[in-house]
Amino acid sequence: MKKLVSIVIPAYNEAENVFVIAESIKNVFSSLIYNYEIILVDDGSADHTLEKIKEYVSNTTNIFYLEFSKNFGHQLAVKAGMDYAFGDCVISMDCDMQHPPEFIPKMLQKWEEGFEVVYTIREEDKTLSKRKRNSSSLFYKTLNWLSDIDLEPGAADFRLLDQKVVSVFRNFHENEPFLRGLVKWLGFKQYAIRYNPAARFSGTSKYTLKKMFQLALHGVTSFSIKPLYTAVYLGFILSFASVLYIPYILYAFINHVEVSGWASVIMTIVFFGGLQLIILGIIGIYVGKMFMQTKNRPNYIIRSTNINQK
Ligand code: UDP
Ligand code: MG
Repeated sequence: MKKLVSIVIPAYNEAENVFVIAESIKNVFSSLIYNYEIILVDDGSADHTLEKIKEYVSNTTNIFYLEFSKNFGHQLAVKAGMDYAFGDCVISMDCDMQHPPEFIPKMLQKWEEGFEVVYTIREEDKTLSKRKRNSSSLFYKTLNWLSDIDLEPGAADFRLLDQKVVSVFRNFHENEPFLRGLVKWLGFKQYAIRYNPAARFSGTSKYTLKKMFQLALHGVTSFSIKPLYTAVYLGFILSFASVLYIPYILYAFINHVEVSGWASVIMTIVFFGGLQLIILGIIGIYVGKMFMQTKNRPNYIIRSTNINQK
């Protein structure tokens, strides 16, 4: 019996790319001794992605789709695909051809050698805009600094997971999974492959600087807890303002403009006032996250699919 490989592809406004990626995966598998299935997850696209997917699906037997009821984000789209995958291993990759399908045989080879997680690390891409490269490097620095997981810069959401690992994931019900970090945290036998990213085939990146920042903070963006963030930002602004204020206070102090003692008092009050707001805001974020998680809402909602429900 040939082993089955599931390929999970999240797609958000990728109408031009669906056909291209599916065909190139087909090409790769034509010379491999595996069966494969492709699960395309339409993450609430506003363009014709779903029509394109359905058009493609109608001519094949091993391509499936999940349609989300709205945009739930890349991470949950990948999670949903994994939840519905039947394969002996699951490979997740982007829809835009930035994750080269030619690496699939190498990943499968490592899997056969006994690695349960084969993840990839993106080599620095000279063709990417400087802003994107800088934001990506800032992203990993911030993340490693803020958390206990140690992610290599460039770790991508292009990875192979053994079915054992996938079934562990099915028990995860975080409403904001950060897969790269979770996979690292899980353990198992892991292997890293380095790859050079290709250029996006069509369309533009959906990860703005703001989205990256949110992902780095395990991006909680719900209207009901936004006020909590305000406290953090306010804290940063106040602390920053107090730093700007220091030269003036020093000037006033040196020139005896004010009563002595005033300088140090003002500095302390303003600085620590800001600091307290930051800390309070951070606590607030955690309380907010607990609030969101305790609601126990489904993490994603499927509007339609051609996969028989498990
Ligand atoms: N994506 C998604 N939902 C989103 C944003 C992105 O499913 O809300 C998908 C997108 O279609 C692509 C992958 O996630 O297949 C990576 O997104 P993108 O290429 O925009 O990110 P980048 O490569 O620039 O980091
Ligand atoms: Mg991309």
